[in-house]
Amino acid sequence: MPGVACSVRVTNLNPADTIGASAWLVESDGHRILLDAGTCPGVEGRAGLPLYSQVADQEVDAIAISHCHQDHCGSLPVALRHFPRARVLMTEPSYFLIERVLHNSVNVMKRQRTERNIPDYPLFHHNEVDEFSYLFQGFKYGKAEPWSPVRPGTADKPTPTVTFHPAGHVLGSAGLKVAHGRESLFYTGDVCFHNQTLSPQADFSGTQSDVLILETTRGATETPAGFTREAELQRFITAIREGLQSGGVLVPVFALGRTQEMLAAIALAMKSGELNRQPVYIGGLGRVFTEIYDLVAARAPNRRPDLNLHEALDLQVLEQRDFRKLRVDGQLFVITAGMLSENTAAHHLAQHMMPEERHSILFVGYSAPDTPGGALRAAERGEPFHFSDSAGELTRQCRLENFDLSAHANREELVDFAVQMAPRTVILGHGEPDARDWIEAELRDRLPKLNIIQPAPGEALEV
Ligand SMILES: [Zn+2]
Ligand SMILES: [Zn+2]
Repeated sequence: MPGVACSVRVTNLNPADTIGASAWLVESDGHRILLDAGTCPGVEGRAGLPLYSQVADQEVDAIAISHCHQDHCGSLPVALRHFPRARVLMTEPSYFLIERVLHNSVNVMKRQRTERNIPDYPLFHHNEVDEFSYLFQGFKYGKAEPWSPVRPGTADKPTPTVTFHPAGHVLGSAGLKVAHGRESLFYTGDVCFHNQTLSPQADFSGTQSDVLILETTRGATETPAGFTREAELQRFITAIREGLQSGGVLVPVFALGRTQEMLAAIALAMKSGELNRQPVYIGGLGRVFTEIYDLVAARAPNRRPDLNLHEALDLQVLEQRDFRKLRVDGQLFVITAGMLSENTAAHHLAQHMMPEERHSILFVGYSAPDTPGGALRAAERGEPFHFSDSAGELTRQCRLENFDLSAHANREELVDFAVQMAPRTVILGHGEPDARDWIEAELRDRLPKLNIIQPAPGEALEV
């Protein structure tokens, strides 16, 4: 802007031009905060890490985490190697989740190192998670927290702060407002503007800022006319009921968020009699996160603080050793991985169930095209297709349905939010190129004077 000294610098550290790994370095008058420290899902080894080495010569005062999904926090210990003086800030519920998430990724990476021969793995170790954990702090929503140490001679200058705003995406998720003197920036993280069964919609009141970093996950996804989440949930419950009458039902889910939202919908349907009460099989990590959901239900934004999933449901943890003697007919599996990645219970069950007409596989989230889940969803019934390297070629005969029960805002809501805020600059990230392009075109149409930027990997912007 001519004549105005702009002192906020934003660097996009996502190494990919796709959804990739979230990591934004924000600098204001010499103070630096890293917003998120993710890894690229599906990208193996060090190639999935943010471009930390590009900014390794800079001292970072703090790292703020929007929520505990891998693409937002999965490289936190690596970031801390680069920025050892940084404090790590997150919401209170995320504080209960993050060490579990990071220890689990060490386990997964160690397994992949041997099974898939990825010598880079693990990218960090259990002891690093433990050693760094004293830096982690959990904060309440809505309170501005200072994050930068007072430097000599700067006591009279304004202190930068970060505020966590409920993002409605998953337990503990937040949009992050960074304020410093007269400058402010808001980063949506992953956001959901509609109610889910447990998670209430985002509350982004008070987030008005000069700069907006907007996620664009669903920018290329059309919302069908007349779509309602209630009707979609009803269709999901009906598919479970019908599926259990003929065979087994598999709902592939992510362990954190999707699992608990689907369990809550199933619990309510069992309570109302729409589904008969019966055991629900979940994975070990899904059980851990469900436990934490139950424990923090009362202190996090929650539409059903009275609903204790462990009490409402007969949850059974499915162990790998149970696979061989497992009877699938009439059983309900709400289990990882959401994209049917290899060496998971869901992959194993899908391989076993898809050749049989009587079974059902019900997808409730996104599968990247290059994953086994993506391959299965693209395959025609009765046509052989390559499912995965370990399972090889398979033919689907089972029922397969997709349900739009996303934990992300739809694209019209994202545009409305940006238009309502009308910041000086909108930075589009966390989406595929076609998704970002759709959002950019809509915004240009509605706010012709708005500065809109799609930064390339590693690009630094003065905003
Ligand atoms: Zn997420
Ligand atoms: Zn994300």
